[in-house]
Amino acid sequence: MGLTACLLVGAAAVQVRCLEGPAADAREETEARVAKPALTGEPAVPEPEETLQEEAVTAEPETPMASEHFGLWEYACDCAGYCSGFPVMPDPELTVRVEALRCACGRPVILTSGVRCGPRNEEVGGVSWSFHKRGRAADLYCPGVGVGDLAALAKGVGLNVLPYYSSGYVHVELVE
Ligand SMILES: [Zn+2]
Ligand SMILES: [Zn+2]
Repeated sequence: MGLTACLLVGAAAVQVRCLEGPAADAREETEARVAKPALTGEPAVPEPEETLQEEAVTAEPETPMASEHFGLWEYACDCAGYCSGFPVMPDPELTVRVEALRCACGRPVILTSGVRCGPRNEEVGGVSWSFHKRGRAADLYCPGVGVGDLAALAKGVGLNVLPYYSSGYVHVELVE
């Protein structure tokens, strides 16, 4: 349902843009039709597929920031379309602490998982009570900072940590 809704929104946006954008062209074409009735059968609207792809490319940068160094989209569920991306919003306290962790590292921290919808959580083998499903956990790594050091820094900013040494990332979550 999430994907369908998303596509519907996209289609609606395209329609609006088509009305605003090529209106002048449409008018010209109308005049052209008056002059050359042979053109009447030609479609006046551009291929919707192209416009949809544009939407997808520009969608992310327009999303608001979650904190100074993290876009909200970095916390989005990364499923293939089971949900809209935000079945829940990331807990503001989590975004504050992750930002603090980034500052403690003094370099970019990469989120590999933020919020998750139920199907995505199952897909990645997450536990049923996963904090990811409630927007209260994130998986992250920091290039140049080892998993052990990153885990210690995360603990230092008040997060519960679960370091995955072999996979090279740390699961952090809010203390209940
Ligand atoms: Zn999802
Ligand atoms: Zn996790």
